[in-house]
Amino acid sequence: DWLDVSDVVQAAVERARKYFPGKVIETGIAPDLPLVEGDSVLLGQVLFNLLDNAVKYGGDEPVNVYARKDGGDVLISVTDLGKGIPPSEIDRVFEKFYRRGKPDGRAPGTGLGLSIARGFVEAMGGRIHAESPAVKKRGTRIVIRFPASEKKAGGAK
Ligand code: ATP
Ligand code: MG
Repeated sequence: DWLDVSDVVQAAVERARKYFPGKVIETGIAPDLPLVEGDSVLLGQVLFNLLDNAVKYGGDEPVNVYARKDGGDVLISVTDLGKGIPPSEIDRVFEKFYRRGKPDGRAPGTGLGLSIARGFVEAMGGRIHAESPAVKKRGTRIVIRFPASEKKAGGAK
């Protein structure tokens, strides 16, 4: 199916705002994004997982979500300003059941969110990776890329 990334990002952010009241989630969604091939339910779940991590591990500052065109790709990013992920673990966090260090006791997770996210994104023909420190030597940015189609949102889907 063709999906409109801006609709899916907007819906996931609205869901996260309801689920995490008090958390500031800022968005920058470019207009006229090309449609991408994928499943909006799966992509919505991926984004909600990333937002859940950004809230759990991202400290008190706002989380930023961007969607824009980047060359031949549509790029979606979720960025927080938390403690970040050391370079040695930046790929391992996508492994099944991988959790960094000791669980801190609050909102313990299962270590599945990012491995599921990678599985869903790759099944849709996209790629996902982590960058950290994203900003001023802290924080985490998760970047998703999908090959853009020629189709634009607003046309026949
Ligand atoms: P689950 O998502 O299943 O509830 P989880 O959040 O522990 O559990 P993942 O989402 O797969 O599992 O993340 C794996 C690990 O990567 C986390 O335990 C955490 O240590 C680290 N991590 C993920 N996102 C961030 C982030 N935004 N900032 C810092 N560390 C992160
Ligand atoms: Mg998680």
